[in-house]
Amino acid sequence: MIEQVRLGETDLNVSKLSFGAAPLGGAYGDFTQRDADTAVRTALDYGITTFDTSPYYGKGRSEEVLGQALKGINREAFTVITKCGRYDVASFDFSADRVRRSIDESLSRLKLDHIDLLLCHDIEFDDPETIIFETLPALREVVKSGKVRALGVSGLPLGIFRTVLDETPLDAILSYSHACLNDDSLTEMMPYFDAKKVGVIAASPLSMGLLTHAGPPDWHPATPELRDAVSRAVHYCEERDLDLSDIAISWSYRLNGPASLLVGMNNPATVHANVKAAQREYDPETIHKVRSFFDNVQRLSWPSGRWGDPEPAKLP
Ligand code: NAD
Repeated sequence: MIEQVRLGETDLNVSKLSFGAAPLGGAYGDFTQRDADTAVRTALDYGITTFDTSPYYGKGRSEEVLGQALKGINREAFTVITKCGRYDVASFDFSADRVRRSIDESLSRLKLDHIDLLLCHDIEFDDPETIIFETLPALREVVKSGKVRALGVSGLPLGIFRTVLDETPLDAILSYSHACLNDDSLTEMMPYFDAKKVGVIAASPLSMGLLTHAGPPDWHPATPELRDAVSRAVHYCEERDLDLSDIAISWSYRLNGPASLLVGMNNPATVHANVKAAQREYDPETIHKVRSFFDNVQRLSWPSGRWGDPEPAKLP
């Protein structure tokens, strides 16, 4: 069974391996509601009790599909994370009115009466002042109403978390593509997050499908050098009957600090594979060799939003 851990200082328990529902929005290829239902039930059977979605994933489809799959399951048996503020590739609105409405829309699509953790989604696409002085205060009022239990933010550049947390407390943050074989920069921020008593969720150990034998989706932002390094790692693994994705999940799962590792899944076979990968520990030589393919591109990320990375944005 996958272990349960407390998320930061909240009263929420999360599973150490969690179910990323971006694929339930269709971003990683097609699936049926039946695939999703079976994937969710299989995950729960393994003790994967934490599910992460967003209004952005498939423009509401992910929340709807997840809500349908969770229908009839005891509400105490799972934790749902959803988000607000991002609605499409280039559609953002972190205004107080919009995020309040967004929560009601999410609850309706999810068929739930409360959200366990609400994250402001990809905050680097708005101004820090809006997030800190408008969005979060409005959301704190929603927490008082009971519709949301805990609050946080998500995004790519690690500097965004410092900018917010230096100014105001949060229950949790979600960082993605920074706790991977090719980019472990999140680990350096763990002492800071611990000092701020913030729960950390590390998402995308495959860096959004990059560290797979099938290769990333068309929209993936990785540079050609990074893709090249992945191809060489894949080739090395294939010659030895190893699976790069399994190695990546196993390695990220063992990183100290984050409460939970969030992997995207939309069918039961992927759930089985990911539990198996998390439970398998690879020998240090294999890890060392596979990681060495990323030596020249280690921590090579890509631009996202307008706050700049890695330095935190300056507030007036
Ligand atoms: P990921 O790194 O988890 O990769 C997902 C892709 O890899 C999918 O195509 C999936 O089918 C495939 N995959 C999963 N397990 C596999 C395996 N064992 N072998 C081969 N392929 C496998 O990327 P992700 O789904 O984007 O990230 C995980 C979750 O984290 C998302 O679903 C989402 O819930 C969350 N997330 C949030 C943010 C944010 O808030 N800004 C950003 C990224 C991810």
